[in-house]
Amino acid sequence: MRFSQALIPTVKEVPADAEVPSHQLMIRAGLMRKVASGTYTYLPLGWRTLRKVIEIVRREMDAAGAQEILMPAVQPMELWQQTGRNVDYGQTMAHFTDRHGRENVLAPTAEEVVTSTAAGEINSYKQLPVNLYQISFKFRDEFRPRFGVLRSREFIMKDAYSFHANYECLDRTYKIMYETYCRIFRRCGLEYVIVEAESGEMGGSGSHQFTVPCQSGEDIIVYTADGSYAANIEKAIVDPLPKQQPYGNIGAMEDVHTPNVKTIADVCEFLQRQSRDLIKTLIYAHEKSFVAAMVRGDFEVNPEKLRINAGGSVEMASAEQIEELTGAAVGFAGPVGLCNKNVKMIIDHSVAGMAAGICGANKTDYHTKNVVPGRDFPLAGENIKIADIRNAVEGDTHNGQKLLFKNGIEVGQVFKLGTKYSEKLNACFLDADGKSKPCIMGCYGIGINRIVASAIETGHDENGIIWPISIAPYEVIIVPTGGEQEVVAAAEKIYNDLKSQGVEVLLDDRDARAGVKFKDADLIGIPVRITVGKKALSENQVEIKLRRNAQVDKVGLDSVVNETKTRIAKLKEELKAF
Ligand code: ATP
Ligand code: MG
Repeated sequence: MRFSQALIPTVKEVPADAEVPSHQLMIRAGLMRKVASGTYTYLPLGWRTLRKVIEIVRREMDAAGAQEILMPAVQPMELWQQTGRNVDYGQTMAHFTDRHGRENVLAPTAEEVVTSTAAGEINSYKQLPVNLYQISFKFRDEFRPRFGVLRSREFIMKDAYSFHANYECLDRTYKIMYETYCRIFRRCGLEYVIVEAESGEMGGSGSHQFTVPCQSGEDIIVYTADGSYAANIEKAIVDPLPKQQPYGNIGAMEDVHTPNVKTIADVCEFLQRQSRDLIKTLIYAHEKSFVAAMVRGDFEVNPEKLRINAGGSVEMASAEQIEELTGAAVGFAGPVGLCNKNVKMIIDHSVAGMAAGICGANKTDYHTKNVVPGRDFPLAGENIKIADIRNAVEGDTHNGQKLLFKNGIEVGQVFKLGTKYSEKLNACFLDADGKSKPCIMGCYGIGINRIVASAIETGHDENGIIWPISIAPYEVIIVPTGGEQEVVAAAEKIYNDLKSQGVEVLLDDRDARAGVKFKDADLIGIPVRITVGKKALSENQVEIKLRRNAQVDKVGLDSVVNETKTRIAKLKEELKAF
């Protein structure tokens, strides 16, 4: 491609709304332009890179025995109602009523559609297993689209769904997908970390997330230094804290007047105590009853852990519901006396281990001091559960080992789904004994755009992008540094020779200063740069430089093509999957 004819609109200024390097550089390098909040048009360079990622993903999925299909972007709401996930997805799911009054969903994912298709096609165990995937646009009306394509509203996802007659077979495919993901991310040049994850609203029994550690990541990876444990924050299991020993005798409970003092911070300030002395009580609605979750005041309730311990989805109770249950306004709930009511008490280890604490008095404008867990409210009994329901924090341990934290970008996730979808959508097969059974399923997602953004987050410097060669829009850029005829002719020859040998080359034939060309070459991050200058020509030499380091090699005009190809091969070799 000739730069003069390409649409590569690079910009110098950092866009005002771009907070993270990948977003800034994708705009500055002319890879994409924003259309509206969370939606982008990919310009030629950006689309070339995306296509390369798609091709790597497609090849690896095909090699793993998965079969590509394509499902519609508009799905019937009915299918979502059958699994109940229209409620789980809530406002993230965009939907519209068509001219016939039918409700439609803009696909945020496709478990429902693929399972209903399988229900129609799979009858016998002989057709199993089967692993179907697609690479297509997904739409999620994210509450806060941000960081460019790291969290956009429309994005390209590779989603795969496998169907099995038994769990051993699911385990085998899950392992193959896990390994395939390792190969894909490796080939895309990403340094990734695999963490245990919750399957969340997806249902199912096991899940792993593939994350790329970096500052801009919205996920928190929790791990031990020896590498024996890594989980995301939703899942990370913490050891219970040592039981606190009381300082002397703890007196009887005592109510204190705390008018309008509702939040943990307010109570600390008002009573001159630390948040770790408080018992935080949060009330959730769960089916037709309530769940009261208790954590120490300096910890946060972990919604995933709570959901699992509650036995299903919970949502924050309304002010009226809280008042109905506790008899007090919001902000004054506490565990004392609560267990006699229609409520499941889920008490975090951090509370169970407290010597004494301060909590809401279940009386508006009052808190209670000297509350001793086990003495003033029960720690065992029907509807009472002691569990790990808080987020891990600095200082926590797992199996005695210190937990460390870092940010990461989730680029992919694999799930063992079990029969959640097949039961609800009636995707059954006849087994060898002629018995009808629901298919056992797995699902496997990859965010294509997030791979691109993650590659930039972890591969850039102050001058621009440093692409891994496998997903670079072009492998080589040729920069003639003058307009002299010999220079142009030499550059053209190298360009044509490389092109004819299958190398992807960009020739910067613009009538621009060398400095401008070098800046753009660095900004758009092409892995290999060939500089053709007048002086170099007089010595029959050109320069080859890799984007990722400062070394400049002078090579003869007659060997430049081979030298370039050797460097490309080397860069590719580094990204070879095992
Ligand atoms: P997140 O927790 O980041 O919202 P998710 O767990 O909901 O993501 P999945 O349903 O597992 O996402 O989707 C599969 C993959 O699609 C993710 O691993 C991620 O790479 C990508 N993805 C999900 N949401 C977005 C988004 N808003 N923008 C870009 N990529 C996304
Ligand atoms: Mg996920």
